[in-house]
Amino acid sequence: MNSPHPYCAQVLQSLTDKYPWEKPFLQAVNEVFLSIGVIVEKEPIFKHERILERIVEPERIFIFRVPWRDDDGNIHVNTGYRVGFNSALGPYKGGLRFHSSVNLGIFKFLGFEQTLKNALTGLPLGGGKGGSDFNPRNRSDREIENFCQSFMTSLYPHIGPNTDVPAGDIGVGAREIGFLFGQYKRLKNAWEGVLTGKGIDWGGSYLRPEATGFGAAYFAEEMLKTQGDSLDRKTVAVSGFGNVAWGVATKVTQMGGKVVTLSGPDGFVHDPDGIDGEKIDYMLTMRRSNHDRVEDYAQQFNVDFHPAKKPWGVACDVAFPCACENEMDEDDARDLLKNGCRCVVEVANMPATQEAMDVLLESAILYSPGKASNAAGVACSGLEMAQNSSKIRWTREEVDLRLRTIMVDIHETCLRAAAQAGHTGNYFTGANIAGFIKVANAMMDHGNT
Ligand code: GLU
Repeated sequence: MNSPHPYCAQVLQSLTDKYPWEKPFLQAVNEVFLSIGVIVEKEPIFKHERILERIVEPERIFIFRVPWRDDDGNIHVNTGYRVGFNSALGPYKGGLRFHSSVNLGIFKFLGFEQTLKNALTGLPLGGGKGGSDFNPRNRSDREIENFCQSFMTSLYPHIGPNTDVPAGDIGVGAREIGFLFGQYKRLKNAWEGVLTGKGIDWGGSYLRPEATGFGAAYFAEEMLKTQGDSLDRKTVAVSGFGNVAWGVATKVTQMGGKVVTLSGPDGFVHDPDGIDGEKIDYMLTMRRSNHDRVEDYAQQFNVDFHPAKKPWGVACDVAFPCACENEMDEDDARDLLKNGCRCVVEVANMPATQEAMDVLLESAILYSPGKASNAAGVACSGLEMAQNSSKIRWTREEVDLRLRTIMVDIHETCLRAAAQAGHTGNYFTGANIAGFIKVANAMMDHGNT
C-alpha cells in the first residue's frame, strides 16, 4: 500500500479524532485518500480550498424517531436516518437500508462511497444513503407497511425528485418501495419520481431489479477481456442470496459461467453442478420466505451446506462478493488466491477488510472496487429518473444497452485514470481518482458551499 499524501494524512487524522467510533467510514475514507495523493499533489488548489475537509463531511443528516405498531398491538420504536452526503453533481441519490446492524457511521460510510460511485456513472447524481435499524425479517406485510408509512411520514419533507431520491438497499425491495411511495404521494399530494426501484406499472424502469448484478457481470467481462478472456466456462463463487446475488447468477450463467456457491448468515451452499434455471428461480422463493438462510437451498437441491462458513475456500476462477461490508478477511483472500481465483469483482459495498484488500491488490489478479463494479444499480436508478422526468418508458433492450455502455465506460475510466497515476491496472486507484476529481471539480465550480 502507498503511504498517504501529508494533506490526506492530516485530514484523515482530524476525522479520526472527531469520529473515532465510525470505523467503516474511516476505512472508506482511508482507502480513497491512499489513492488520491497524486492528484492532491498535482492540484494544490484542492488543499487551498479545503476540498478534502469538505468532501468527508456530509452536507446534511436527518435522524428521526420511527414508532410503529406490530400485529399484536405493541408499539416499537426504531431510528430513521438520511444522510445527504454530497449534492455537487445532482440530487442526493442512494438507497435505504433496513437492517439491525446500521448506525450513523454505517450510513456515512455508504453515503461517501455512493458519492464517488455515482460520479463514476457519468449521470447527474449526488450521493446519499439512509435507512433504519428496523429488521424486516419475519415481519408480516402489514407490519412492514406500518413501519414504512411511519418512516416516510418523518422523511417526506426532506426529499423530492430534485432534492433527494432514495431507493432500495439491503432489506428494502419492491414491496417497501411501494409502501414508501404510496405514503409520500398521499402526504405530498403529488405523484413524482421521488423514489427509484418503483413497480414497472407505476413509474419503474425495466431491469432495475436485475441491474446491479447484470452490471457487475458486464464489468467482470470487461476485466477479463483485458487478458483476452471472458466469463465463458468460468467457475464462479458468489456470496449472498438476495437481489444482487440473483442478478449476478442470472447474467453470469447467460454468459456461459457456472455459479457454484451462495451464502447467507447461516453459512454457504456448494453446488458443483452450477446454480442455473429453476435453482436461480428458487433464490427468489428463498428471498420471499423472509427466513434469511440458504440452508433451504441445500435441502431443496440436495447439495452440501457448510454452516457458519463463507464460500471463499471453494476453488473458483472468479469471485463476486455480494453480501455486505467486510465479509472477506485476509485469510479468505489468501484462500481465494491459493485455489486459483484470478478475478475478484466487488458487488457489495466494501466487502473486503483493509487487510484482505492489501492481499488482493498485491497479487497480480484482476480486482475491482464495489464503487465501480456495482454502479449499475444506481445507474439504472438514474435512467429511471430520466424516464420519469421525460414521462416516457424505454424498452428492456434500450435500458440494457445503456447500462452496458455505462459499465464499459466506467471500466475504461478506471483503467485510464489508474494508468495516468502510474498505477496501471489498479482499479481501486482508478475509480477513486476518477470519482474524486469529478466531485471535487464541481465543488470548486460551486464556490465555498
Ligand atoms: N443501494 C444501491 C447502491 O448502493 C442503489 C442505490 C440507488 O439506486 O439509488 O448503489
